[in-house]
Amino acid sequence: MEAIVAGGGIGGLAVAAGLSRRGWDVTVLERTGEFDVVGSAISLWPNAFRALEAVGATVGGERLGAEGGLRDWRGRWIVRMDDDEVATGHTAKAVVTHRHDLRTALLAQVPAHCRLAGVLVTGARVEGSRAVVEHDGGELSADLLIGADGVNSAVRRALWPDAAPARYSKHTAWRMILPRPETLMDAGVEIWAETWGPGAVFGMFPMGGDRVYCYGTGAVPAGQRGVDGELAELRRRFEDWCEPIPTVLAAATEERVLRNDIYYLPRLPTYVHGPVALLGDAAHAMTPNLGQGGCQALEDAATLSVAVETQPDLATALRRYDELRRPRTQALGRKALLSRDLSHLSWGPARAARNAVLRTLPRSVFVRSLAQPFSWRPEDGLVRT
Ligand SMILES: Cc1cc2nc3c(=O)[nH]c(=O)nc-3n(C[C@H](O)[C@H](O)[C@H](O)COP(=O)(O)OP(=O)(O)OC[C@H]3O[C@@H](n4cnc5c(N)ncnc54)[C@H](O)[C@@H]3O)c2cc1C
Repeated sequence: MEAIVAGGGIGGLAVAAGLSRRGWDVTVLERTGEFDVVGSAISLWPNAFRALEAVGATVGGERLGAEGGLRDWRGRWIVRMDDDEVATGHTAKAVVTHRHDLRTALLAQVPAHCRLAGVLVTGARVEGSRAVVEHDGGELSADLLIGADGVNSAVRRALWPDAAPARYSKHTAWRMILPRPETLMDAGVEIWAETWGPGAVFGMFPMGGDRVYCYGTGAVPAGQRGVDGELAELRRRFEDWCEPIPTVLAAATEERVLRNDIYYLPRLPTYVHGPVALLGDAAHAMTPNLGQGGCQALEDAATLSVAVETQPDLATALRRYDELRRPRTQALGRKALLSRDLSHLSWGPARAARNAVLRTLPRSVFVRSLAQPFSWRPEDGLVRT
């Protein structure tokens, strides 16, 4: 069986790996020259590690480690927890890893002859039982086409013409990986925390090699850029927040700061059209507030790979893929939007009330809610028939 994968990001490479190891003849079309992954770090939760295993990839990385949790912008804890608690009952640990390392691990599982870089997918159509993909150098056809070409997917635009375009979430994100400042290392500061302040959030997660992954988010009109640079903008926005945020930002340099406006996709009625399936952000781009968008792309890839192996024919496999993936990813997308709104409250009394409620909740309730997506397994709902 032949498959074409449009887009060689996290989801595209993962499904290419999963199908290749199940004997499929796969071609990945990626518009960038070198399957470059733009971005900084990514959190991978236990469900992502099971998905990676199902597609044959191994990713290392430091587990979260010491205690952490949620704080208010004055540094008072709202919820405290530790890594063991978050991952309790799950085989894998949560880690924050460099996107480059994830990409390298996935690329290693996709044979070189399957990867076509510098190819822009421009459209797609269905001809009988075959899928045809149009690209800037001609056309290719296969038994299966997977649209893994991100939030503005060309495959989705061609075959889901009624689908609403991606929506701006009203928030922009600044991300960076920094060496951990010596002042923090001397003080033994290891915490991972998401800090919630007036209309903004700052996250800080230690990575291996004495680095920290940081992000800041806030409400800004789409398309804006910092007038005197992104680092200056970020320092201004977070200068009076609790330590170690100002110390970490003081150690940053402009070229390390990556800024992206955040978009999400309104719900699609189906992820499958004939022999074509959408996967990852092309199907369900979500706001990053649960750190699950990439993990869900990996889950999609694992589910599709297991489905084609266990189901009697491709049509059944694709139907099961849609039945299993759509409810889960759309529910997580809704939860992510809710989390975005809750974490970015700007009115003081509303923030105080939110924090008070969260402080009175038993910690187990909070951890259970965070860990709810973690128990997923690739074979869920895919009994061999
Ligand atoms: C600020 C931020 C922080 C995030 N943090 C996390 C996190 O911590 N954990 C997590 O799990 N997720 C996180 N996410 C979400 C995660 O980045 C995405 O869900 C994930 O990258 C989706 O992978 P994908 O392969 O579906 O799409 P993409 O990563 O967008 O990959 C699509 C690929 O297709 C290629 N492509 C696009 N169009 C074409 C075309 N026409 N022809 C050929 N190739 C094409 C692109 O070049 C790209 O390589 C975050 C997102 C943001 C914005």
